[in-house]
Amino acid sequence: KVRVRFAPSPTGALHIGGVRTALYNYLFAKQHNGDMILRIEDTDSQRFVPGAEAYIIEALEWLGIKFDEGVGYGGNHAPYRQSERKDIYRKYVEQLLSDGKAYIAFDTPEELEAKRKEIPNFQYDASTRMQMRNSLTLPKEEIDRLIAEGKQYVVRFKVEPGEDVHVNDLIRGEVIINSSILDDKVLYKSADNLPTYHLANIVDDHLMEISHVIRGEEWLPSAPLHVLLYRAFGWKDSMPEFAHLSLLLKPDGNGKLSKRDGDRLGFPVFPLEWHDPKTGEVSSGYREAGYLPEAVINFLALLGWNPGNDQEILSMDDLIKLFSLEKCSKNGAKFDFEKGKWFNHKYIQNKSNEELTELFLPILQEKGISADPAKTAKIIGLVKDRISFVKELWAQTSYFFIAPESYEEKSVKKRWKEDTPEQMKELIEILENITDFASEDTEKIVLGWITENNYHMGNVMNAFRLAVVGECKGPHMFDITTILGKEETIKRIKKAIE
Ligand code: GLU
Repeated sequence: KVRVRFAPSPTGALHIGGVRTALYNYLFAKQHNGDMILRIEDTDSQRFVPGAEAYIIEALEWLGIKFDEGVGYGGNHAPYRQSERKDIYRKYVEQLLSDGKAYIAFDTPEELEAKRKEIPNFQYDASTRMQMRNSLTLPKEEIDRLIAEGKQYVVRFKVEPGEDVHVNDLIRGEVIINSSILDDKVLYKSADNLPTYHLANIVDDHLMEISHVIRGEEWLPSAPLHVLLYRAFGWKDSMPEFAHLSLLLKPDGNGKLSKRDGDRLGFPVFPLEWHDPKTGEVSSGYREAGYLPEAVINFLALLGWNPGNDQEILSMDDLIKLFSLEKCSKNGAKFDFEKGKWFNHKYIQNKSNEELTELFLPILQEKGISADPAKTAKIIGLVKDRISFVKELWAQTSYFFIAPESYEEKSVKKRWKEDTPEQMKELIEILENITDFASEDTEKIVLGWITENNYHMGNVMNAFRLAVVGECKGPHMFDITTILGKEETIKRIKKAIE
């Protein structure tokens, strides 16, 4: 059975690249009727940030990425928070020690620093470990004494040199790395009785029966070590398959996308607004910037993968059907935030006027306007194709709710002529006599009046628009007056000629 996990460390807000990793895991799991697991990798207490875990859960929920098991979801393999699994890891560390696959090392930070000064490019490995203070070099009594005294130690993995380690990656193919370049990684620290990422990750992936590890490219260098760990535990045959996803790149393609690129170019790199508890800094989020979750999902899915044709608008269900790890790009994907806006525009168009009304009414309320939903839906229908974000509706529709208090100067100069006030008076009279104001008759009658009198069509209609809207922009004039109604339309023209 396909079982994948998203395993973030709660060290801050979830970056948009992390969201993409979660998404690809989700698509792969759902395509195979598999399980998606949320595991929180919080064994590095130094980097723990309060609120980060809740943020991650809320962000993925907002985006519609659902889990079958995990922190906040429960399941048969609980607990899913690594800090709650200490006893489990301890047992597996003991196993490696008694099998001679790992050893205890007492070197203090100062001793390690001294070695680094003494040996250029020092690495703790087969070539240096016999010069260090560890259970391979110290007599048994000394080791027991140090432990009894409460001396801090770490457990290191004993990497045998000179072996080609094969990592089969579903995106990159076979990657071969010689074990001689690997160091004896720390697996466990007595200081906090916690494993490091590598040990906890392997033990949990095994115990949680993970079938596929889909994660960022930054973990590819660790994969050979992970393969060796699986073997050391005797789990080689049930080892998960690996897929390392390429990076999200800066818009110009020069290097990894960072938060600073977002700040500089004005787009969020986080799904939700993030209040950093350490620095107090607030970073913008896609949700608060007005993106629809479906648009963000569609946009992210196509950064580093495509269905092999030019189909771009894909729902979550489409993506689940079409996604394939084999089609994920080996090269980094340039982050094109203009494209992100384009997706939002498209998804806004797909929403009904009523759905958009739901989203717009709170914005109106903030402005102190309690609008009629049915009327608001009609208004939205007139301007929808001009917007990419719900919040842009206000700039497009404010005159429906508040009569203009000033008139755009340039247009006034161009269109408001000497004879305009007289013509507007005539127009008021004409409008007053129309019985069915909301019908197409209104347009016919007004245009007829202009032509019969040989008035300048452009000037009169634009003056009319200026009086009603305040500027010479917007949808069809008679669609506007239909919504405003006879009384309000006339009131506005009167005010303009006062
Ligand atoms: N905790 C790791 C991270 O934060 C998970 C890496 C993995 O998926 O193995 O990225």
